[in-house]
Amino acid sequence: MYCKKCEYKNKDEAKYCKKCGAALKESQGFIQKINQSINILSVLIGLFTSVLVLIGGSLLFGSLMATGNLDIRFYIVVVFYSMVIVGSLFTGILSGYTPWEGAINGGVMTLLMVINLGFLLGVIWFITVGVTAAIASAFSSIPMSTLPATPPTSTGIDMGSAVNIILDILAFLGLFAAGIIGGAAGSYIKNAVKL
Ligand SMILES: [Zn+2]
Repeated sequence: MYCKKCEYKNKDEAKYCKKCGAALKESQGFIQKINQSINILSVLIGLFTSVLVLIGGSLLFGSLMATGNLDIRFYIVVVFYSMVIVGSLFTGILSGYTPWEGAINGGVMTLLMVINLGFLLGVIWFITVGVTAAIASAFSSIPMSTLPATPPTSTGIDMGSAVNIILDILAFLGLFAAGIIGGAAGSYIKNAVKL
């Protein structure tokens, strides 16, 4: 490997130029640095634990919701955050030795979890809408007069729903913050108790 600064011919494995001391390795980009820190197995185990939390949380809250005392939004926030926190803690404990590496892997675990949940919700939505459309077409022979009149749609911006959308976006972004912090915390705990 030739030194870019002084063109001295160094050994291929050399990290610094023997003659002038310049760094020989190409500087890495941000994405490459993150990519090198990713521990796939720890991310997958973290994902698996988050699925266990989803199943356990659904069983618990499903029975609570059946009694009608629970808001679906509350359920989603609590279960999703529990999934991220537990999953990223496991990922952090199993991955890197520094909180930085734990944070990266916790963030990657959260990203994969969100993609999977998005895919799952997309499939459910597709099936639900598809089935609804099929039922609607089956009953389309019913005269319209027998159907209830549609309520008048309100004009203007509904501030309540606008606030809810902002809260949803913040809750969604908060998932990533929780995953990154959880991963860093996992690595920190691992070092603190010398697992
Ligand atoms: Zn040199």
